[in-house]
Amino acid sequence: MSDFVRQTPVGDNRERSICASCGHIDYENPKIITGAVVVHDGHVLLCRRAIAPRVGFWTLPAGYLELGETVEAGACREAYEEAEADIQLDGILAVYSIARIGQVQIIFRARFSGEPAYAAGIESQEVRLFAWDEIPWAELAFPSVHWSLQAWRDSGSGPIGAPQGNPGPTDNGPEPVASGPYPADSSRDDVIGASA
Ligand SMILES: [Zn+2]
Repeated sequence: MSDFVRQTPVGDNRERSICASCGHIDYENPKIITGAVVVHDGHVLLCRRAIAPRVGFWTLPAGYLELGETVEAGACREAYEEAEADIQLDGILAVYSIARIGQVQIIFRARFSGEPAYAAGIESQEVRLFAWDEIPWAELAFPSVHWSLQAWRDSGSGPIGAPQGNPGPTDNGPEPVASGPYPADSSRDDVIGASA
């Protein structure tokens, strides 16, 4: 196996890992998470995680986009894998940049393709629909789950406006890190798709 060295390639402005023998540059870029707020009759579909991190906490069906896959197809695949739900996407509800851990999350609003049907996939302990006032806010797995649910609330059931972004410190929106028992400090960052 070749050694990699940290150098700034000619014409670039950042250090990269470069193969010492062939010059191949190992570009590292953010990963994309795709997922959905699946809504039925004012209720939202959440999955209780069966896998680390955050086992036992509730999350949206979401995960890493695969190579060769569109974000739309990825969101539908994750809903099927984690909740055995066939869904149709309404549109993009939110785009979150979790810059510190190199994630971009694209969250759709969606509905069931037919009658609501869902079950715990292999990565979930339990899957169920929650009314807004039933959402287990203290048991959400990640801040961006909280943000996404708030974005759904803000969008109502009509047409989706421009996608929401990260809530800023001056927003009137949720303060998820302060209000939820998310992992302490360094592992607090959202890793919604770490299962994939
Ligand atoms: Zn090489």
